[in-house]
Amino acid sequence: MQRGIFQFEPPGEREKEKRVIAEVIVDIAHSDVDKIFDYACGEEVRAGMRVAVPFGRGKSTATGFVMRVKEKSDVPPEKLKEIYRVEDEIPAINGECLSLAEKISARYRCPMALSLRLFLPAEMRTGKVDKTYREFARLADELPPIGAGAKAQHALVAYLGERGEVPASELRALSASAAAALIKSGAVVLEKRRVMRKPYENVAYAAENHVLTPAQENAVRTVREVSKTVFLIHGVTGSGKTEIYLTLIAEALKEGKTAIFLVPEISLTPQMFSKLRGRFGTKVAILHSGLSAGERFDEWERLRLGEARIAVGARSAVFAPIENIGCIVIDEEHDGSYISESSPRYNTFDIAYLRARHNGCKLILGSATPSVDTYRRAEKGEFGLITLPDRINARPMPKVHIVDMRREVRRGNATPFSLALREKLKACLDGGNQAIVFLNRRGFAQTVMCRDCGNVVKCENCDVALTYHSDEDCLKCHYCGAKYRPLSACPVCGGTHIHYMGTGTQRVVGELKKLFPQARILRMDVDTTSGKEGHYKILKQFAERGADILVGTQMVAKGHDFPSVTLVGILDADMSLHFPDYRSGERTFQLITQVAGRSGRAGAEGEVVLQTYDPENYILRFAASYDYRGFYGHEIGMREAMMFPPFVKIVRVMVTGEDEKETLSALRTVYEKMQKIYTAHEEQFLFFNRMHAPIKRIQNKFRYQVLMRMAADGPLREVYAAAMEEKYKNVLVYVEENPSNLS
Ligand code: ADP
Ligand code: ZN
Repeated sequence: MQRGIFQFEPPGEREKEKRVIAEVIVDIAHSDVDKIFDYACGEEVRAGMRVAVPFGRGKSTATGFVMRVKEKSDVPPEKLKEIYRVEDEIPAINGECLSLAEKISARYRCPMALSLRLFLPAEMRTGKVDKTYREFARLADELPPIGAGAKAQHALVAYLGERGEVPASELRALSASAAAALIKSGAVVLEKRRVMRKPYENVAYAAENHVLTPAQENAVRTVREVSKTVFLIHGVTGSGKTEIYLTLIAEALKEGKTAIFLVPEISLTPQMFSKLRGRFGTKVAILHSGLSAGERFDEWERLRLGEARIAVGARSAVFAPIENIGCIVIDEEHDGSYISESSPRYNTFDIAYLRARHNGCKLILGSATPSVDTYRRAEKGEFGLITLPDRINARPMPKVHIVDMRREVRRGNATPFSLALREKLKACLDGGNQAIVFLNRRGFAQTVMCRDCGNVVKCENCDVALTYHSDEDCLKCHYCGAKYRPLSACPVCGGTHIHYMGTGTQRVVGELKKLFPQARILRMDVDTTSGKEGHYKILKQFAERGADILVGTQMVAKGHDFPSVTLVGILDADMSLHFPDYRSGERTFQLITQVAGRSGRAGAEGEVVLQTYDPENYILRFAASYDYRGFYGHEIGMREAMMFPPFVKIVRVMVTGEDEKETLSALRTVYEKMQKIYTAHEEQFLFFNRMHAPIKRIQNKFRYQVLMRMAADGPLREVYAAAMEEKYKNVLVYVEENPSNLS
């Protein structure tokens, strides 16, 4: 295996082949080996290639990434090891991505191996998928004679003559013996070639090309002409944002460049993909977790080899192996899925921004409901702001009716549906239209509410909803750790209809069936959408009118375009309103706007019924009138008054492990380090404490945290450095910034 450790080679040989040194990061995610190792190698080795190297004691092998190639090493020649072999002919990671990996490691304090892995499909590392090859058959240039009696052979020759080339299997299926004879005689030549698995071949392609409206023209021109890197396109649902993205991407392609198009969940939006395919054909590669390993690998390869030039996908597509990027788009920029939940916990925007800067291209953020943080940066002039206040063809926004569920309770209605919703559902179905019933079920937080007055129990210090924890039978504040006794009566009105929110989709479907026995009902949630293309199947069935009502969770809110949907029912809007997250208002506004946007997209005007126990709530009011500016103005004022992001940073250092002693001892060390930072910068902290995480154990792991709220320009880097500088045995330590879930 070991090709020439050079002491053993004849001296003359050595001069012929020039030796160079590769700086290698081994693919082991441990801080002890998180450094550059020098290896000797031949000149064919280049930065970004993967190599097999001897590592550790004995004959152990590790995979490594070549970061740089240089002439000389400081390692004495007798200690310098030789690489075993090169794994890639073409670098797996390009130069830009190598330096990006270094920046990610520095920013999030993770080992280089972890940040490098982001740039490769998982199946490439594990070596589980291989390239697929297929055997093709064609006629030889000169045909040897074939006996007149060999009818089957003549038939195959004619078959090939017509088609030129077919997969060998196809030929064999026609006649295995004749095919074998032809191959043997040399009449048919076989050739093995690599084929790429292409996902979504069953999606119909929509080749629509619109003439841009003046508002769209203006948006494209602004991006082109204003000298900023980042632009926020704030356009109501159906205002034609997609068409703007596609135009910008087409321009990049025309200039010979590439593009990245990020969407929260491509598996939920096959329509988007069909638009892209219709417009750009096979220049589009799609990267997401719903593909088979082989498909994902091949799509990635098509990008790396330059066969495809537009990378489309969820957040990980931001690491696409492309060069010369002309445009990066982040659609639905407010979506929570753009923050990674495993180490390194990167924010997709940060990576996209670095790539845009490196390539000198524009980064486009689009949303009907931008995150408060993004909108603030646009408002302050950091990002360009483009507003599209109207739908295409001035189609009206669906009318939103707010229904007070407290009144329904008083009337003795114990079902999840108000009278108004039932009547409108009936009218919708009678009219031959479709309806969506949306159920707001974020996580499993048990928020406690009085059904008589709609009061939700909140923390006295933080104004954030308390969460019920059954293991301790108490209510907890996830932001300060305060505990409260559970209630038997409402502290505001004395009512005793205390309600733990969270109706399930299954129950809703059951009740709907009772009300509308004739209706065909589809359910879409995590339980019904498992498997490859699980979402797609349900959406397709609904789009083809194979059902009348679609019942679902957040999944039904995302970008779908069903022309026959004229009614959307939102049950329990309060559910997300009182999720224990400082962004719950923002999230609710976004959800309602998005789900309402599914109604009345073509033909008939749409309607929305929004059920709530808190009908005066300003978030619901602004959402019902599609008043983003009003919502934003109110929200940003609250954030400032309550000292929540973007005015401060909430930072949590999590310490988790299976052994409680080890975990506690790690917590102690972490806490001491954090306390040093706190003492040195006390004026920058609003809150600093260590405690149990609100949920003490998940999956057998004890969970402790150091929670802080610090100034927006507080010592975050130091927190990262201190949290990550030490490795703990069997204990995982990580940092979260403004986490959306503090359980
Ligand atoms: P958004 O992404 O803002 O929700 P879309 O891009 O999906 O909006 O556009 C909404 C609808 O309007 C789509 O059906 C789209 O095909 C159509 N559309 C977009 N731009 C134009 C245009 N310039 N002329 C006509 N129809 C358009
Ligand atoms: Zn609190």
